[in-house]
Amino acid sequence: MGQAHLFGRSTGGDIPVAVGGDGCYIIDSTGKRYFDGSGGAAVSCLGHSDATVAEAIKGQLDRIAFAHTGFFSSAPAGDLADLLIAHAPAGIDRVYLVSGGSEAVEAAIKLARQYFLEKGEPKRSRIIARRQSYHGNTLGALAAGGNEWRRAQFAPLLAETSHISPVYEYRGRQAGESAFDYGQRVANELETEIQRLGPENVMAFIAEPVVGATAGAVPPVEGYFKRIREICDAHGVLLILDEVMCGMGRTGTLFACEQEGVSPDIVTIAKGLGAGYQPIGAMLCSAAIYEAIASGSGFFQHGHTYMGHPLAAAAACAVLKRITRDGLLDNVLDKGAKLDARLNEVFGQHAHVGDIRGRGLFRGVEFVEDRETKKPFDPKRGVAKALKKAAFEAGLICYPMGGTIDGVNGDHVLLAPPFIIDDGQVDEVVDKLSLAVSKVLG
Ligand code: PMP
Repeated sequence: MGQAHLFGRSTGGDIPVAVGGDGCYIIDSTGKRYFDGSGGAAVSCLGHSDATVAEAIKGQLDRIAFAHTGFFSSAPAGDLADLLIAHAPAGIDRVYLVSGGSEAVEAAIKLARQYFLEKGEPKRSRIIARRQSYHGNTLGALAAGGNEWRRAQFAPLLAETSHISPVYEYRGRQAGESAFDYGQRVANELETEIQRLGPENVMAFIAEPVVGATAGAVPPVEGYFKRIREICDAHGVLLILDEVMCGMGRTGTLFACEQEGVSPDIVTIAKGLGAGYQPIGAMLCSAAIYEAIASGSGFFQHGHTYMGHPLAAAAACAVLKRITRDGLLDNVLDKGAKLDARLNEVFGQHAHVGDIRGRGLFRGVEFVEDRETKKPFDPKRGVAKALKKAAFEAGLICYPMGGTIDGVNGDHVLLAPPFIIDDGQVDEVVDKLSLAVSKVLG
């Protein structure tokens, strides 16, 4: 059987067929091994052959694979909710299980809207987000995101959303401005936008604590999210944190927002939650939001056929236990620090490397034509794509990102290797990336 009838991401070109997984490696049908340096897009946090997760899925399959949540709950769904809440940011109390990241964001947006209806504030419907952001490809999530390239064709279908500046220290911080002051300045744009729209019309602010798919592991500066939280509180606006990519231990804490010292009202997770073994995501919310609905209409006007899927939930329980109980978060911090050090050693002085950033095992490298002026490459050169291709040939999967942010082209490579990576493999990732960079940029 070939690939002739498959309608995948792209309509042209042959790509290898994956036939096996071995720890951090993916094996294709020719036997070639690729180090999965980005977990796809920060998905495969346990690599590709985790026996514990496989056993959990098989065990659940022997019991029951699916029972519709309109009629039944299941033990794995309940266990997963308990496990998540045991580790969740303060105030987060309820878990709504879905099948992926976009679904989690859609649920978050609709929950925010219904919350304000239940509270008797029906004018609140506007979302504020940031220009450098991606929240998913379904229409609600796409409307929230600020990624022009992904939105452009579908603009007529998207709900009106305000986009304020991202927190992007490499390009945004002005000469003489401290990182803290920079963070406060861009956070205060939220205040200005809420005032412009009228607080009574604003429902939520949504942001990724560490930005993933539009910019390559861009962390916030200190104090930024505390100021954002203050502004949201001052105006009764909900804070939705999208941890679909940066959550589930990727940055060294189970939730990335733990490092900011803030709790959201709603948080979305996916990717690392199922670690690629099953498609699953979740939207978690505060007790206050849940109670407003429970004591109001008593029904969240939403739902998907596969929500709370028992097999997916069983896999996620096993993943979460592995992450939280087997010292993997320590390994994320340890190998993350090593990866950062090695990237700086090899690329720190490179004429075409502008920025090396990130947290834990979530690292981004930004490539520029001129590191002094930060002048980006001409988008026509397709540097990020060429790096992806050269790395792939060298046996390394890394996630490239191009695209324009505030009129500036960005060429980044995202690294998000499995949490089981060892010291030698950190070297392997950096060496292979270095080969690719030499090939593309000299
Ligand atoms: N939010 C963020 C922050 C993401 O990175 C992604 C996926 N890259 C999504 C939402 C959408 O998730 P999915 O592709 O699982 O729908």
